[in-house]
Amino acid sequence: MKRLCIRWGRPPRFVCDVHLAKVAKYLRLLGFDTVYRNDITDDELLGMCRFGRIGITCDRRLQERLPGSIVVLSCEDAGRQVRRLSAMFHLARYAHPFHRSLCCNRPMVPCDKRRCLSKIPKETYRWLDGFWRCPKCQKVYWHGTHAPRMRKKIIDLLGVSEKVHGN
Ligand SMILES: [Zn+2]
Repeated sequence: MKRLCIRWGRPPRFVCDVHLAKVAKYLRLLGFDTVYRNDITDDELLGMCRFGRIGITCDRRLQERLPGSIVVLSCEDAGRQVRRLSAMFHLARYAHPFHRSLCCNRPMVPCDKRRCLSKIPKETYRWLDGFWRCPKCQKVYWHGTHAPRMRKKIIDLLGVSEKVHGN
């Protein structure tokens, strides 16, 4: 494999090609700044790579245009693709799960639940206090009953063992 230029010490930032929507969503779930648009052109993607993002694609021809900044994934299950990236870029070291909007990549901000009453189910509102809001799409996120399942998913995506990253 060709050598990639990695800037150690800071979390990697990514840009995914149009075919990798699910990979982009998973990377955001893990907290990584990941650009994804279903209409991004090859030139736009390469432009972002020149400014320090790592390009992720299934297209080998794209990699040939900027070998040091592009990773080619084989077409397989998105979870396996992310595990591959995790091993390559030590994602477990930098991961910050649940801190980025899955739909628009913005870091989320804590929000006062009284101010987003209409977006939270009544039951959840009653027993939970920690809520986060995406400043762009205004979607509200919380660690509810789905949290243990999501946690398992995250551990799986990072390819680490539960023991090492327990509590
Ligand atoms: Zn959002």
